[in-house]
Amino acid sequence: MVIRALLLLCGLWTVVAQAQTGGAERVPVSLIVRGDFVLTMETGQPVLADGAVAIVGDRILRVGSWADISSRFAAEQVIPGEGRIVLPGLINGHTHTSMTLFRGMVDDLDLMTWLNQYVFPMEGRFVTAEFVRIGTELACWEMIQGGTTTFVDMYFYPDTIAQVVDRCGLRAIVAAPHIDFPSPGFRGWDDSFAAAIEFVTAWRGKHPRITPAFAPHAPYTVVPEHLEATAKMAAKLGAPVSMHIAEAPSETEFVFEKYETSPVKHVASTGLFEQWLIGAHMIQLDNEDIKLVGSRGVGAVHNPTSNMKLGAGVAPVADMIAAGVNVGLGTDGAASNNDLDMWEEIRLAALVHKLKAADPTAIPAPTALDMATRMGAEAIGMGDQVGQLVAGKQADLIQVDFTRLRHGPLYDVMSHLVYVLDSQDVQTTVVAGQVLMLDREVLTINGEQLRKDVTRVRDEISTALDRGE
Ligand SMILES: [Zn+2]
Repeated sequence: MVIRALLLLCGLWTVVAQAQTGGAERVPVSLIVRGDFVLTMETGQPVLADGAVAIVGDRILRVGSWADISSRFAAEQVIPGEGRIVLPGLINGHTHTSMTLFRGMVDDLDLMTWLNQYVFPMEGRFVTAEFVRIGTELACWEMIQGGTTTFVDMYFYPDTIAQVVDRCGLRAIVAAPHIDFPSPGFRGWDDSFAAAIEFVTAWRGKHPRITPAFAPHAPYTVVPEHLEATAKMAAKLGAPVSMHIAEAPSETEFVFEKYETSPVKHVASTGLFEQWLIGAHMIQLDNEDIKLVGSRGVGAVHNPTSNMKLGAGVAPVADMIAAGVNVGLGTDGAASNNDLDMWEEIRLAALVHKLKAADPTAIPAPTALDMATRMGAEAIGMGDQVGQLVAGKQADLIQVDFTRLRHGPLYDVMSHLVYVLDSQDVQTTVVAGQVLMLDREVLTINGEQLRKDVTRVRDEISTALDRGE
């Protein structure tokens, strides 16, 4: 009924009815995307050979064989699928997009040194609305090229981020950060929280691809009373909350010393577990914590590259999934990664847990891919809209090439997607039925202008650093 209501809203029901009756006249649709293989990411659904996805407006109308789709529909645009796999767009459940401009500036440090001695001071000096505009565009360009179609962001000047997302065509949960100490544009908690409320109020329900959210930074940077206030406000406005939880041993020590409990139980005690909560990292969890997260429906986002680079530890992903937790994948910011490549996260998720458990059956390839698509969508609370290629859901999908000599031979599509193919193989990116990249050309961002802007920011930062400012 939900899907039918949505289709009625879009004026599509007559189109569906016509298509289902299989009338001789082919029904007009806006876009058909073909593939030698189509992966819907529905549970138990086999890979569809010589398949296609028919799209009307921003939604998927039908997924089927090319014979079936071509007999029913006539499209304004058909994207050929020879040598290509079609699958749902990837979901980056945790990032800080503008930090692309800090890419490779400081490496090889532990989380607290990295944050307190470098990231926070650098942000205080350089982050402005214009910095965020350029950094977000750079991130969106990279994500469109790599087949990411939805991301969860957490960064300053969220209004600017939302405007870039609007222009570039991606889908995002844009979370406004609020933190107890001074941050770019704010003196502390009161003004940063007030601005977050203003942002969420202004954007909620306003844009089909943008969901505004709250982002209290972490248990060690926001006191419990402020987390309680966030929970109350999120409930009132029906907004998601994105937060770093249980990321590093130092955080666990801090929380145990100060609140005599674990980070997970501490955050749960503030009322946030009753909200639409997206917990980034979730590494330092014991069995009780895992059960608690599973029983409350809190989404977890695993960031293997960032966790490995900052030496933060290995999240208990297999145990969380076994306990019913939806675990997605994220890149974290480009300052701790140093890219926004979801293919790397998928592969590392499939590998690092095998290493940790000394068990090659831990996190098999299909589970890793599920974390970046269907389960990733559930983890960020958007499973009803994205993450699978099924009729009625948003038309967010990608085409991936598998025909280069270095790819061959292909025996198993799922295995290839996880262990062989990468971001350079993505050919087409579609979000809400709009083609954002075709044959690797990004259509919604001016790459040449962006290159100039990025170079200018890089020169400004380098000059300031050289002068020892
Ligand atoms: Zn983060």
